[in-house]
Amino acid sequence: MRLSRYFLPVLKETPSEAQVVSHRYMLRAGMIKQSAAGIYSWLPLGYRVLKKIEGIVHEEQMRAGHIPMLMPTIQSADLWRESGRYEAYGEEMLRIQDRHGRDMMFTPTAEELITDIFRANVSSYKDLPLTMYQIQWKFRDEIRPRFGVMRGREFYMKDGYNFDLTKEDALHAYNRHLVSYLRTYERMGLQAIPMRADAGPIGGDYTHEFLVLAETGESEVFYDSAVTDLSFGDRAIDYDDVAQCQGILEEFTSKYARTDETHDAALFNEIPEERRRVARGIEVGQIFYFGTQYSEALGATVQTGDGQSIPVHMGSHGIGVSRLLGAIIEASHDDKGIIWPEGVTPFHCGIVNLKQGDDEADAACEQLYSALTAIGLEPLYDDRKERAGGKFAGMDLIGLPWRITVGPRGLKNGVVELTSRRTGDSEELSPEEAVKKIA
Ligand code: ATP
Ligand code: MG
Ligand code: MG
Ligand code: MG
Repeated sequence: MRLSRYFLPVLKETPSEAQVVSHRYMLRAGMIKQSAAGIYSWLPLGYRVLKKIEGIVHEEQMRAGHIPMLMPTIQSADLWRESGRYEAYGEEMLRIQDRHGRDMMFTPTAEELITDIFRANVSSYKDLPLTMYQIQWKFRDEIRPRFGVMRGREFYMKDGYNFDLTKEDALHAYNRHLVSYLRTYERMGLQAIPMRADAGPIGGDYTHEFLVLAETGESEVFYDSAVTDLSFGDRAIDYDDVAQCQGILEEFTSKYARTDETHDAALFNEIPEERRRVARGIEVGQIFYFGTQYSEALGATVQTGDGQSIPVHMGSHGIGVSRLLGAIIEASHDDKGIIWPEGVTPFHCGIVNLKQGDDEADAACEQLYSALTAIGLEPLYDDRKERAGGKFAGMDLIGLPWRITVGPRGLKNGVVELTSRRTGDSEELSPEEAVKKIA
């Protein structure tokens, strides 16, 4: 992409409405624009990152054997009356009427809708197990939308639903989700700690929230610092291997890590004092096994091998795709701007031409642009006739992992400058070596 032909409306001033750094940088870097409280347009740069995050979520869900699909954003109230949640859901549900006076809503979540699809099409245990998911816009009329995309009213969420014959099978689905989520967040450069959460009126131990530690997080969390030493890494995983998935769940959830709703002071105090941590976190996902709550209410049953009709065991599993942009920036920035982890960066590398219009500098930049593109990388070439200082500040703000600076002086010696955004270290290299190092 050439900056002269792109749409990147960078702001010089710090927007006064933004209270947290991720919101400030997303506005300043021209990634989003608010259209109403908690509702945003995704400008080209923000949209690119959103799509990168969505892509990782898709890859990891499909790797786990979960099937992508898409449900509508507008639902009828009927199914929610059947499940009993239409009245219970409360003010977060944006209720709409169509021209015939029928009650509709903008979907806040989709347990009812997917269960209806299931009951209409599946009747035999032979069709189980089944896990489907979507990545779709949701709307919740949050009482206090804030922190930009972190607590929006319209937001982008992955929601997945498993249907299983037995509790045991459904818990394997739960474990698969836990493992796939660990991989997903790590690929985004994040440490998201599974913490025991509140299962509400259903009770039980089968819900975990994934939290990214951050001072600006809205959840209070309590944990044993030993959990922060765990990482999934590049170990091989077989999602059909029940014992392996269970082992990973145990490894990642046996140390104390809880949100305030499930915090148990007595248990917490059993941790050696130097490892006790009280901090704040951003909820970037949640997994939930809830048994037969919806399948019983909506009549989602299957015939077993011996002819019995039984309600299926279900769970639902969410990832806050749009919230993740905020969480990643909270976790990875400095006072000059964002520092994108490689996995989600909107462009892999910036090219700064110090003397636009100089034949040699222009030609060297074009060559770098082609060489990077040829190996599948996406460069952002600042080809505007602007001062070098402004170009550097812009690149630092938008936070691409690498910057190549090209100017007539360096080119005389056959070199360009390669700078790492994260470390700030620069080195002079031939253009070919610079490309090789980025690849
Ligand atoms: P929160 O506690 O932050 O209100 P939640 O527990 O109500 O979130 P879930 O129903 O668990 O949310 O939805 C799955 C994921 O969707 C959450 O873990 C979070 O990452 C994301 N999410 C929920 N509400 C919002 C929102 N208003 N804006 C952006 N992302 C959200
Ligand atoms: Mg909520
Ligand atoms: Mg929550
Ligand atoms: Mg939640």
